[in-house]
Amino acid sequence: MERLQKVIARAGIASRRKAEELIKEGRVKVNGKIITELGVKVTASDRVEVNEIPIEREESVYFLLYKPRGVISSVSDDKGRKVVTDFFAGLKERIFPIGRLDYDTSGLLLLTNDGEFANLLMHPRSEVEKVYVAKVKGVPLKENLRKLEKGIRLEDGKTAPAKVKMLSFDKKKETAIIEISIHEGRNRQVRRMFEAIGHDVLKLKRERYGFLTLNGLKAGEARELTPHEVKQLR
Ligand code: URA
Repeated sequence: MERLQKVIARAGIASRRKAEELIKEGRVKVNGKIITELGVKVTASDRVEVNEIPIEREESVYFLLYKPRGVISSVSDDKGRKVVTDFFAGLKERIFPIGRLDYDTSGLLLLTNDGEFANLLMHPRSEVEKVYVAKVKGVPLKENLRKLEKGIRLEDGKTAPAKVKMLSFDKKKETAIIEISIHEGRNRQVRRMFEAIGHDVLKLKRERYGFLTLNGLKAGEARELTPHEVKQLR
């Protein structure tokens, strides 16, 4: 038995609070009957409709994928390119990625069919630390890396403080390998941060998401999160 607003939120239709409003507005039916009071519980066999549209009731599933480069963080692509859900052929649940990694970025990506869980992690206030390793063109000056640590102005505003560590550099090839940890998740954020100090990112990999790492996985491989890991992320 689960509360109606939770079932609606998990299906990715609305936040729990918005789901409560939908219920109060009379837009939710259970087994064909409009429910306007809060607190009603439903079972897996109850038929729930929002705005006359039945919602899919699936068991929640959670996966960690080591996304290779050259794959779109989406469930379909109109140009026919490979998408992250292609790695889950045969799975009956309809999962989607939590946030995205660029086409050319590899690394750790979570996927789920739990809309509420996804919203929680993607919310700007969710403080999940994401650790990336970037190979950049040129060898950045310490003072420029300091700018990234303090926060740097991008066209969509100043970034929050980041942790930055130069792991190695190659003066001959004029490249450097830098680890950068951020809490935000703006579009192409790491690439844009390095561009802002004059260094193009040649390669980018997300190595960590909160306490989750890629340990034990090769590119293109995935594993299910344990119930304990899911609980820790909430
Ligand atoms: N920052 C980027 O620039 N790209 C990613 O894929 C992830 C973070």
